[in-house]
Amino acid sequence: MSEVPILKETTRSTGREALRNNITAALALAGAVRTTLGPRGQDKLLIDDQGRTMVTNDGVTVLESAKVEHPVARMLINASTTQDRIARDGTTSAVLLSAELLQNAWELVLQGVHPSAIARGYRMAEDACREHFSSLTLEATVERQHQAAQTSLSGKIHAAMQDLLASLAVEAGKAVLENQDGQRKADPTRVKILTQTGGAMTDSRLVTGLVLGKQRVNDAMPKHIKAGKIALVDGGLERKELMGNVTLKVTSTGVLESFRQEEKRLLTQQVQQLIDLGVTLFACKDGIDDDMHGLLSKAGIQAYRRVARSDLDLLARGCGATLSYDVKSLHESDLGAFISSKNERWDGTMHWIVQTEEGGATFIAKGSTEEAVGEVERCFADALGVACQLLEEPALLPGGGATQIALARHLRRQAERIPGREQLAIEAYADALEVIPRVLAENAGLDPLDTLLQVVAKQSTHDGDDAHHIGLDVVAKQPSNMVESGVLEPLRITRQVLAGATEAALSVLRIDDVLWARQDPSIPDGIGMDENELQ
Ligand code: ADP
Ligand code: MG
Repeated sequence: MSEVPILKETTRSTGREALRNNITAALALAGAVRTTLGPRGQDKLLIDDQGRTMVTNDGVTVLESAKVEHPVARMLINASTTQDRIARDGTTSAVLLSAELLQNAWELVLQGVHPSAIARGYRMAEDACREHFSSLTLEATVERQHQAAQTSLSGKIHAAMQDLLASLAVEAGKAVLENQDGQRKADPTRVKILTQTGGAMTDSRLVTGLVLGKQRVNDAMPKHIKAGKIALVDGGLERKELMGNVTLKVTSTGVLESFRQEEKRLLTQQVQQLIDLGVTLFACKDGIDDDMHGLLSKAGIQAYRRVARSDLDLLARGCGATLSYDVKSLHESDLGAFISSKNERWDGTMHWIVQTEEGGATFIAKGSTEEAVGEVERCFADALGVACQLLEEPALLPGGGATQIALARHLRRQAERIPGREQLAIEAYADALEVIPRVLAENAGLDPLDTLLQVVAKQSTHDGDDAHHIGLDVVAKQPSNMVESGVLEPLRITRQVLAGATEAALSVLRIDDVLWARQDPSIPDGIGMDENELQ
């Protein structure tokens, strides 16, 4: 067959060779985050082009900052990013599982099983796991919600902070819990996070309502106002800058003055419009002309300028208001309602606190240095993600690899009934699931194989219907009942890890032809594994 011209400039790998290369890339990527899994995972020091540093043990952060060009590695990174977006946790597990699924698939390919049979078997295995979840899940009681939020923090921050942040996250989640068309919805982005350097981490707290580090534009305005209407503007209440190269020709002494007067008249009109609409609280993204402060104060309006767009959005959601482009285009229907709005001095700084019908909460992250505050902020966001998931779908699974081992045992029993080659793929899927307990053991300094065998044996010889609670407690370094140890994870996270990893592995298996333009971009640098590991 003659080569198509476009292929002349390309390097091509097909069939087995393509699959082998792609799987090598996936394994190299998984190798980069393997040591971060679990509470005993190690941290990574990330250094960007500008020499800025960050210490993290979060899989997705490591992967997103790595300059990875290999397309298959990128597919896995995307799976991890999706995991972060949908479930807000489980990112390392998703990458490890997809790489393991691929490695096991490769072994089957070497035995002569076609990738499409493997793909079918993997799908069957994922479906079987999904069905089996219902017999493994636990109800998320209040105590267990707290434990699950705490599990998401293990290894990331010290124990006292884990406990505090888990409680605050559950409380914050409840403050933003809504009922949308019969569905429970807890959106973590509705919780405002305010960072303050100074004081101890343990001074971090949660305040009901929305707190902004702002004060009203003029002290003559009321300090504390009760229930009323709020107007939010994406622009300002100020004189317009003259556009471009406009020159104002002053021909007589009064012209400039009358020009200014006219501007002032227009602004006064806008303030009058706010008064006519019955607005008592006003906030805008740009400035508020000094000349208008007096009028606003006289009308009893509390006004704020230079409010960040993200804060205006939070206010809009909390008050049921719509952001308007400017005051002139404000309509009655754009206004929202608030319960109270006040200014208070905390630690020497003025704060603006708004209570709204829709609830809402503000987390105040504190710490002695910027790094410490950043750590508190990130940990709170993780715990809040878990708390919100559980409020929306109150189902939990035991952690520490217990669930993956139980699923693997279930799959092996199911596989026996499948006569085709898919049987081998289902077994390979079961083996791949065990990567989680194996790596947890490895990172805790235990022998991965012996530990896995111990946990499996304990589950299968256990009397009673709670065998699937037995996992590896990496703190006690032995198999134990994870429900009793309080190591719990939202069902949604584990389910998404399986779905995302299976999907990513299947997309790689479907590729049998790879065309590289110009040159073969290398497999992720420095994190590479020995190419000979795969034969
Ligand atoms: P991911 O990015 O996948 O969420 P993590 O580093 O957060 O990775 O680790 C999560 C894993 O650690 C889960 O499988 C969880 O069950 C496990 N884990 C958390 N705490 C413990 C513990 N005390 N003992 C054993 N396993 C734990
Ligand atoms: Mg995690």
